[in-house]
Amino acid sequence: MKWSFRIGSPFGIPVRVHLTFLLLPAWYGAVVWKQSGSMEAVLEGLAFVLVLFACVVLHELGHALVARRYGIPTRDITLLPIGGVARLEKMPDDPRQELWVALAGPAVNVAIAGTIFLLVQIGASITRLDAVSLTGGSFVARVMWVNILLVLFNLLPAFPMDGGRILRALLAMRLDYSRATQIAAVIGQSMAFLFGFIGLFSNPMLILIGLFVWIGAAQEANMVQMRHSLSGIPVSRAMITDFRTLAPSDTLAGAIELTLAGTQRDFPVVENDGVVGMLMQKDMLAALARGGPDVAVETVMQREFEVLQASEMVETAFQRLGVRRASSAPVSSQGQLVGMITLDNIGELLAIRGALDRTHRSG
Ligand code: ZN
Repeated sequence: MKWSFRIGSPFGIPVRVHLTFLLLPAWYGAVVWKQSGSMEAVLEGLAFVLVLFACVVLHELGHALVARRYGIPTRDITLLPIGGVARLEKMPDDPRQELWVALAGPAVNVAIAGTIFLLVQIGASITRLDAVSLTGGSFVARVMWVNILLVLFNLLPAFPMDGGRILRALLAMRLDYSRATQIAAVIGQSMAFLFGFIGLFSNPMLILIGLFVWIGAAQEANMVQMRHSLSGIPVSRAMITDFRTLAPSDTLAGAIELTLAGTQRDFPVVENDGVVGMLMQKDMLAALARGGPDVAVETVMQREFEVLQASEMVETAFQRLGVRRASSAPVSSQGQLVGMITLDNIGELLAIRGALDRTHRSG
């Protein structure tokens, strides 16, 4: 089952809502109902959540559109209860570009809050902007405050918040990228610890945020460590060159035979010397359960897949697999199929690199 559904594609970027995001209006509606007991207030509360949701989408679009200016496409934007996530195809390598991409999101909320502030100042409505809380006060004023909160929250110098990326980008202008990430991750985890600690004595919500930040910081540090280990290795040196292929007209029975005879799980499907698809093991198993072994490979294979170049770096190959959530991809050199890269294969490479690093240090 798919846990998110698409609600539109502004600027050609699909915006998806994760089902758990719907917890937010439900929770907020319940809070307002408990406070006021009026249906009108609940409806206004739901309208407020909708506007908040629009502000989060605009924030993510800010990241996505600046990334696009640097030639980096965004696969989609997903809204989760904890905020939005813009899935960029990759992060810019130039720290200056990463800085602008990270700043663009919060800048959108500053612009929204600033515009509201000006409009309210100009307009005759003398709302006391300071006399509101998140569930009371004038609607417009609340939208302004929630945007200010979004800016403050996102600028916390901790991954996965924008502030963490900004801090890393600033450090990376002077230091090595993986060193900069380590420092940013340590700062993020110290903050996460502080949140959790304060949360113990005050708001349990802070413990949750602390946990979320802690995990985000650790993930980012691991990711960069891994990219560091993979850097400088071309795909041609890491790929599997001993592999089997299938033809589109082959049946799944043939694929089963090859699977059982070796260790290969996914198979490139080749026609007239070109790769026309990838038969992934999970699709094969699903198709077997549905239609049995006589189904043709071409009806089950994936027609959209990454084709890696033998000359590209394993680091970018890994990123491309990650974005597509693929476990393997064919490797081509001058239009010819020359190998395959799988996640297992990259994992082995990392293990070997790690072992070599240790012998270097102890030797
Ligand atoms: Zn952001």
